[in-house]
Amino acid sequence: MPSSSPIAIFWFRRDLRLHDNAGLYHALRSGYPVLPLFIFDRLILDQLEKPHDRRVEFIHKVLADLQAELAAMGSTLLVKYGRPGQVWQEVLEQYTVAEVYTNHDYEPYAQKRDAEVGTLLKEKEIDFRTFKDQVIFEKQEVLTGQGTPYTVFTPYSRKWKDKLDDFYAGSYPNAKYFTHFCKTQVLPIPPLESMGFRPGGGPFPVKSLRTELLQKYHDLRDFPAAPATSRLGVHLRFGTVSVRELVRKARVHSSTFLNELIWRDFYQQILWNFPHVGQGEAFRPEYDRIRWRNNEEEFQKWCEGKTGYPLVDAGMRQLNATGFMHNRVRMLTASFLVKHLLVDWRWGEAYFASKLLDYDQAANNGGWQWAAGSGTDAAPYFRIFNPTTQAAKFDPQKQYLRDWLPDLNSLDYTAPIVDHAFARERCLKVYRQALGKD
Ligand code: FAD
Repeated sequence: MPSSSPIAIFWFRRDLRLHDNAGLYHALRSGYPVLPLFIFDRLILDQLEKPHDRRVEFIHKVLADLQAELAAMGSTLLVKYGRPGQVWQEVLEQYTVAEVYTNHDYEPYAQKRDAEVGTLLKEKEIDFRTFKDQVIFEKQEVLTGQGTPYTVFTPYSRKWKDKLDDFYAGSYPNAKYFTHFCKTQVLPIPPLESMGFRPGGGPFPVKSLRTELLQKYHDLRDFPAAPATSRLGVHLRFGTVSVRELVRKARVHSSTFLNELIWRDFYQQILWNFPHVGQGEAFRPEYDRIRWRNNEEEFQKWCEGKTGYPLVDAGMRQLNATGFMHNRVRMLTASFLVKHLLVDWRWGEAYFASKLLDYDQAANNGGWQWAAGSGTDAAPYFRIFNPTTQAAKFDPQKQYLRDWLPDLNSLDYTAPIVDHAFARERCLKVYRQALGKD
C-alpha cells in the first residue's frame, strides 16, 4: 500500500464483524480507503493463563475468518501484537492516517486506553471518531424522570422498551460500502504461539439463534440440563453477532429473551455510570464492611467442584471443563461461595473471569454483586439459596447432575463441606453485623 495516500483506520475491539457494525459503517463512508486494525493487547494477554485461553483462541479464529472475507474483497486486516499505545505509534509511522474510527467500550480499562490513544491522535491532529455499537442504549440514554441513571432493573427495562423503535433496532447497511476497504495485499496474522498461546481444540458455540429455541425459551431456560439457552454469550462479548439483530428477533419471538438482552445493557450502563463497581468496590458501600472468612481451602474446593453439594459441584465442573455454566447454576454457585462459605465475592468474580468463555466485566460483576447482595437489584441479604432444593426444582430428573458428576453415586463423592442450616445462620449473623441490622 502506498504509505503516502491517506487512509481511515477502523479499530476492531469487541465488535468483530463486518456487517451491521456502527463504527465500521461510518469509517466506510468517510471518503478514505479503510484499513481495519485489531490489536492483541499485551496488557490484557499477559494477565491470562498461558498457553491455553479459549477466548484468545476464539478471537484468533474470528480474525482469520474476517481476514478471509476481506481478502476476498482484495483487502486485508492489519493485526498487531503489543501495547496499544506503542502499536498506535508504529501504525502512525507506517501509514498516513487521516481519521480513526472505533466503537465504544465501557470498561474502566478500555476507557483509560482509549483516552490515551485519543491524546496521541489529537497530538497528530487525527480525528478519533467513536460510536455506540455493542448495546442498544448506552451511558445516559435511558434515565429516570429525575435525569439520573437507573439502579433498579424493572423500571429501567420499562423505559428501555418504551424508547426502543425501529431506528434503534435497525441494522447499519455496511455491505453497500464494502468497496471502500483499501485495496492491498493480505497481511499475516501473528500466530497464537508467537503470543504464548496454543489452541486447545474443541468447537465454539455456534452463531445462530433458532426461532424454536426462542419460542421455548421462557419455559425451559431455567433448567440447566436442557439445551434451551442461546449460548450466544461469547458472540455478544466479542461482537461476532449484532445485538440489534438479536433484539429484532426477540421482539417477535420472546419477550423473556429480550429481557435478558436488556439486562446486558443494564449492567453496561451501571459499569459506565458507577465505575467504582469495576474497580473492586461494592455498589453499596456498606457491604464492604462484611467480614469475609476467606478460607483458602474451602475456596479451592469450590473451584474444583468438591463442596459436596451436587448442583454447585456440577456447575463448577461444567465451568472448568467447558468455559460455560448455565445461568441458574451461576446464581447458585456464586451465592454458595459468598453466603455459605463467606468468601469475598471478588474471589469468585476473578475465578469466573479466568474461566468463562463469555466473560464480560459488566455482566460478571453485576451477577456477583447481585449474589452477594451488594449490587443493584440485589437479592436481599437474608435470601440464601438452599442448594438441595434448588437441585430438586431445576434438575428434577438429575440429568444435569449425571452429565457433570459421574462420581455422584460413588462412595468417593464428598460429604458436604458445610451444613446448610449452620451456614445460613452464620451468614445472616455476619451480614447483619456488617449492615448494622442487629
Ligand atoms: P441466554 O440465556 O441465551 O441469554 C442471551 C444473552 O443475554 C446472553 O448471552 C447474555 O449476553 C445476555 N444475558 C443473559 N442474562 C444476563 C444477565 N443476567 N446479565 C447480563 N447479560 C445477560 N454473562 C455474561 O455474558 N458474561 C459474564 O461474565 C457473566 N457472568 C455472570 C456471573 C454470575 C455470578 C451470574 C449470576 C451471571 C453471569 N452472567 C454473565 C449472566 C448469564 O449467566 C449469562 O449471560 C448466560 O448464562 C450466558 O448464556 P447464554 O448465552 O446461553 O444466555
